Amino acid sequence: MTPNIPNIPFIDLQAQRRHIGSAMDDAVLSAVHDGKYIMGPQVKELESKLAEFAGAKHCVSCSNGTDALALVLMAKSVRPGQAIFVPSFTFVATAEVVAWLGTKPFFVDVDEDSFNINPDSLKQAIKDATDQGLEPTGIIAVDLFGQPANYSAIEDIAAAHNMWVMADAAQSFGASRDGKPVGSMGHVTSTSFFPAKPLGCYGDGGAVFTDDDELAEVMVSMRVHGKGTDKYDNVRIGMNGRLDTLQAAILLEKFKVFPDELKARQKIADRYNEGLKDVIKTPQLIGNATSAWAQYTLILPENINRDDFAAACKEKGVPTAVYYPIPLSQQKAYAHYPTVTGGTSIAEKLSASVISLPMHPYLESDTQDYIINVVKDVLK
Ligand SMILES: *Cc1c(COP(=O)(O)O)cnc(C)c1O
Repeated sequence: MTPNIPNIPFIDLQAQRRHIGSAMDDAVLSAVHDGKYIMGPQVKELESKLAEFAGAKHCVSCSNGTDALALVLMAKSVRPGQAIFVPSFTFVATAEVVAWLGTKPFFVDVDEDSFNINPDSLKQAIKDATDQGLEPTGIIAVDLFGQPANYSAIEDIAAAHNMWVMADAAQSFGASRDGKPVGSMGHVTSTSFFPAKPLGCYGDGGAVFTDDDELAEVMVSMRVHGKGTDKYDNVRIGMNGRLDTLQAAILLEKFKVFPDELKARQKIADRYNEGLKDVIKTPQLIGNATSAWAQYTLILPENINRDDFAAACKEKGVPTAVYYPIPLSQQKAYAHYPTVTGGTSIAEKLSASVISLPMHPYLESDTQDYIINVVKDVLK
């Protein structure tokens, strides 16, 4: 690399690490010294802080965002013969957990403006599932790139069919819609603390939020092998799904700076919007939404080849990423599951044309201006 090409990380976790400084070292070392490695007091403390922040009665922490989805589906006792509706344009985990349980993920198209599940396509898919002899049971809406899905529309549709709604909020923790925080929309919300997510730990972690006492109780049992009065009393089939004490200690420190980080992410998104709006359509927030800006994602116009665009940015030291290059309905392992009548043309279009720019709360203005200028140049 020539010296005048900057080395810009896509997500700079080390900048956050430097910002938090010795408070993190102290938190980690003290958890190590205390020796309560499994379900130590930090886990409970984190759960109560996050529940309050998310406007939910219960937070059940767990091993990762995929297991968070699984805990809910297991607690809901989903089974073969049912259909669970998922957007085709999402990370694979959303559909994967449904398939684990022998249930059918039913692929629905998304909206181009929000990247999230399209309520009209959802209605059609429910009709299709019924026609195919499946029992429409639940909807997993995904808050892609940080913006909450249209929960008021989704909840109305769910209510009309006696279905539940789960929010896969792996990318949106900290966001809101119509004044409601993520964690309080739908019947239950899952999230992930994977390092690159808006609130990430230093390994794997996740959580489920709900107001439903019974659901929370079942998930608490499920995450420790279906325990009853103790872990050697097994009242249901569960899993090892706990969050480590160490990760909880790390998250407690990161949570202190999280509100400021959300503000910084919004400022950075605003700066991108302002800098790029004359050359490309910039991401939209819809329905009074705020976003956690897990990703800042553009849709490239048809005349721009994405690989060439990414290569030209990379040559100037600007990393980009594609989330996600193939819609789930076209993935080898998932193509045999049902897809809504009319297909998922928007998901397909987005998979072929989206590209994400560097986004993290510690992105400096001059670095960001450099990125903006490179993107503008390449788009010319
Ligand atoms: C990251 C992610 C998950 C899975 O979270 P893990 O902690 O990596 O298991 C699920 N759904 C979406 C939308 C995600 O982005």
